[in-house]
Amino acid sequence: MSALSHRDMDEFSLIERYFRRHQPGATDLELGIGDDAAIVRVPADRHLVVSVDTLVAGRHFQRDTAAADIGHKALAVNLSDLAAMGAAPRWWWLALSLPDADAHWLEAFSGGMFALAEQYDMALAGGDLVCGPLVVTMTVAGLVAPDQALCRRGAAAGDAIYVTGTLGAAALALRYQQAPAAPLHRPRPRVEAGRALVGLATACVDISDGLGIDLGQLLTASGVGATLDPAALPLPTTAVDVSGTQLWELAISGGDDYELCFTVPSAREQELPQRLCGIDVQLTRLGYTRRGAGLHWRTRDGACFRPSVAGYRHFG
Ligand code: ADP
Ligand code: MG
Repeated sequence: MSALSHRDMDEFSLIERYFRRHQPGATDLELGIGDDAAIVRVPADRHLVVSVDTLVAGRHFQRDTAAADIGHKALAVNLSDLAAMGAAPRWWWLALSLPDADAHWLEAFSGGMFALAEQYDMALAGGDLVCGPLVVTMTVAGLVAPDQALCRRGAAAGDAIYVTGTLGAAALALRYQQAPAAPLHRPRPRVEAGRALVGLATACVDISDGLGIDLGQLLTASGVGATLDPAALPLPTTAVDVSGTQLWELAISGGDDYELCFTVPSAREQELPQRLCGIDVQLTRLGYTRRGAGLHWRTRDGACFRPSVAGYRHFG
């Protein structure tokens, strides 16, 4: 075995070397890596929440992205989906298609992935490893109390619309070399915030394709609409020379933010600070839902703001 590539290592030895680890979070994993399938113990008083996401090299990340960042981001975007459901992450599965078995790459990739997983006491329960173009697919599973999961449906007219963090920083990094790269490569899934919103938020979605698309989905699923002032958008502070309206555009259409957008009954908004107490997250109220359909942007002087695209759509 050379230091750089594992020409003499087959898929089984690579799995042993890079993916089978002692995992403190594996206590409720009855059977993990090494058999035909995993067996997990789901408590009788919990529902299983499951999601899968695929990252394709050249489409979801640039080909020269550091392997540790790819490992982090692949798990982070999956955890963001669990966060949006208010679920506690427990296990994940990794299906990896790799052009070659590069030792440095695998070491860094698995390092980035496990470092994030450790924050959540999760366990890697299995996966697949094939030779092919670079594609990372992960399945995550978590737990939530029955009927407590946060869904896209559920918002009523008059509910307040909130968003965590800032919007547009990943899109800035993608377009401008001078912008900090961390928001693009190292998104922080809002797992704690999502869990804290269970029992309070009426609907929730994570922002992966852009606020315009994702909040639009929440509103459609809930059968309500919203007219919001773009001046309310939480924008990243940036040294990049972009106009205010360009930043609005990036915040609405940019995508890759992995923040949560959720609704709360207006009579219960005052419960938010206590719910999120001790969780390091910024909260911004964008406005309120209304009867009707559609998401529109209107400034305080009454002018309509129309972003050129709502967000990212595959096959669009
Ligand atoms: P099968 O041929 O039955 O699908 P595999 O030979 O693909 O099984 O995998 C053998 C074992 O290794 C399985 O338990 C599988 O879950 C696990 N595994 C395969 N690839 C990975 C991976 N990339 N990460 C973690 N576990 C993996
Ligand atoms: Mg297989």
